[in-house]
Amino acid sequence: MHTTKQVSPSITDVLSAALLIAPHLPETPMWSYPVLDDRLGMETFVKHENVQPTGAFKVRGGLNLLSRLPEGRRTAGVLTYSTGNHAQSIAYAARISGTPCVIVMPENPNPAKVAAVEALGATVEVKGATMVEAGEYARLLAGKDGLRLISPADEPDLIAGVGTLYLEMFRRRPDLDAVFVPVGSGTSAAAACVVARAIAPRCRVIGVQSSLAPAAHDSWRAGAPVRRPVETAAEGLATGTAFALPQEIMRGMDDFLLVTDEEIRAAQGLLLKEAHTLGELAGAAALAGLIARKEEFAGRKVAIVCSGANAGPSELHHLLRGA
Ligand SMILES: *Cc1c(COP(=O)(O)O)cnc(C)c1O
Repeated sequence: MHTTKQVSPSITDVLSAALLIAPHLPETPMWSYPVLDDRLGMETFVKHENVQPTGAFKVRGGLNLLSRLPEGRRTAGVLTYSTGNHAQSIAYAARISGTPCVIVMPENPNPAKVAAVEALGATVEVKGATMVEAGEYARLLAGKDGLRLISPADEPDLIAGVGTLYLEMFRRRPDLDAVFVPVGSGTSAAAACVVARAIAPRCRVIGVQSSLAPAAHDSWRAGAPVRRPVETAAEGLATGTAFALPQEIMRGMDDFLLVTDEEIRAAQGLLLKEAHTLGELAGAAALAGLIARKEEFAGRKVAIVCSGANAGPSELHHLLRGA
């Protein structure tokens, strides 16, 4: 973690990120689905981050951060701690820029996740009983080996890179009334705030988190960081602490709601059936939030971020049984 205070990215930073990532990632589609619109009673737009090469939006931030590293830093290498989509994002971006990359994962990692990161050429180090301990070890290792430690969220370049998602969204639909964003650490919701404020100030930004891992939500409401247990099955939302930089930017967010894991599972089924698309649980949370607020947005134009598709075998089993 950084001891120095990080500075919020501006819309200019998001515009430069768009130039840096354009050679590597095409714009993702944003579609409407008539049956979904009918069921919800409004015009909905599903932003398909689940079709990114790593299966989640985070790769936008990873590519921006790695592209902006000074040459010397890039040769020395980077290091981060994560089991999930953040790990894949950094490993993917490191491979493209030819940067050595170490990912620290807590003990007993899911072999599929280790394989995904190793296939991208990163080195996996297994250390610590929890993510907090893995993070502490990562800090030690970074200091010893001179690697650039990448925080999962307190990084302006990650947030600016993720902002390109919202640049694409508002360029297509400058007339949106609201966008629903799933929140774990808050980089995506923070990025939505930065871009909406600059180019779509009328559009409300609404965060959605699982009631079984409400650290970001509760910290936002309290105006101070709080820790909360993590009991959600939605891995992309499974964050037990608040991150300072996204929390600071999210102060400008219009609303923040909690949904249950059951509501998220129902939304995941709806995405599969009516939008013909696979969202992992975190990727369905925005739709769950919109369903919870559907009366309020009747007749409006609303976007939801389908943030990722990386559902593991048991999650897929559960989903298909429900269908
Ligand atoms: C990381 C992640 C989220 C949450 O994003 P934050 O920027 O951490 O708030 C949501 N969905 C998916 C699929 C993710 O990987």
